[in-house]
Amino acid sequence: SGTLLEINDLAVSFSTQGGEVQAVRGVSFAVGPGETVAIVGESGCGKSVTAQSIMRLIPEPPGRIKHGSIHLHGKDLASLTEKQMRNVRGKQIGMIFQDPMTSLNPTLTVGDQLTEGILTHEKMSQREANKEAIELLHLVGIANPDERLKQYPHQFSGGMRQRLMIAMALMCKPELLIADEPTTALDVTIQAQIIDLFKEIQEKTGVAIIIITHDLGVVAQIADRINVMYAGEIVEYGTVKEIFYQPEHPYTRGLLTSVPRLDGDRSQPLIPIVGTPPDLFAPPVGCAFTSRCKYAMKVCQAHDPEVTELSEQHYTKCWLQDDRVEKPY
Ligand code: SF4
Ligand code: MG
Repeated sequence: SGTLLEINDLAVSFSTQGGEVQAVRGVSFAVGPGETVAIVGESGCGKSVTAQSIMRLIPEPPGRIKHGSIHLHGKDLASLTEKQMRNVRGKQIGMIFQDPMTSLNPTLTVGDQLTEGILTHEKMSQREANKEAIELLHLVGIANPDERLKQYPHQFSGGMRQRLMIAMALMCKPELLIADEPTTALDVTIQAQIIDLFKEIQEKTGVAIIIITHDLGVVAQIADRINVMYAGEIVEYGTVKEIFYQPEHPYTRGLLTSVPRLDGDRSQPLIPIVGTPPDLFAPPVGCAFTSRCKYAMKVCQAHDPEVTELSEQHYTKCWLQDDRVEKPY
């Protein structure tokens, strides 16, 4: 066992006409074998950029990894050649995106698409590959897999296409799946089915999962630990229980009051977080949440909060939790 993936102080920027966008600003977290770690935050918070960095899919330029490291089984991914990296993608790490149609080829049969990857990575006949594909379609809950292999993506419903994407990502038996907003394009009932499917797959295969979403409600059922991201930084990190029942960062609390509760209690109204995230061309000197935070103090605007350890697995980056700061209440 030990650590499967370790990200340390990752910073990623993009140069644009308007200047340098600091999309990810010092992100660190680790994923152990078979674990599910969530990254939750609003669109533009840097969560997808973090995922793309792991896969080394940041286009350079305009993107640039400014500092930090990503290790898979202790191996620095930055030290790999593009050819070695292609082997990591798909074979060691599988990726699932929000919109299956952008990743599926409409002109190829489902069978050809499912087996394409495994045939390039492994010495295997088409027949053997088809057998694997059929088993996987079973695993992801697609009925009549033999018939389905001959069909094209447009013959699948949205939910079935997402199941297909999951099967495709699992073909080479990766140790880690990265799912970026895997349920966002789906309606609520199908969302729940896909989340159940992730749980089932994890139980059966032991694959580790990084799930990226703007919706905390989605990860309540499956995450072991949650990273809450805001303006390119992780502002709170904890177990799913700590994040849902003892949230300390005002942004996390805001996210929680804007999604339905874990225990199904509907007595509290859902309150959206007012305001917009800061401009990442010139991130604020102090806490990036200051302009939206109802607890903001003088220190918040002037100084970047340091990380406070609340328990062994629970951290937050907020002056309210820092003993050196006198609280306004
Ligand atoms: Fe709010 Fe200050 Fe905490 Fe930032 S550091 S979240 S502004 S209280
Ligand atoms: Mg995104």
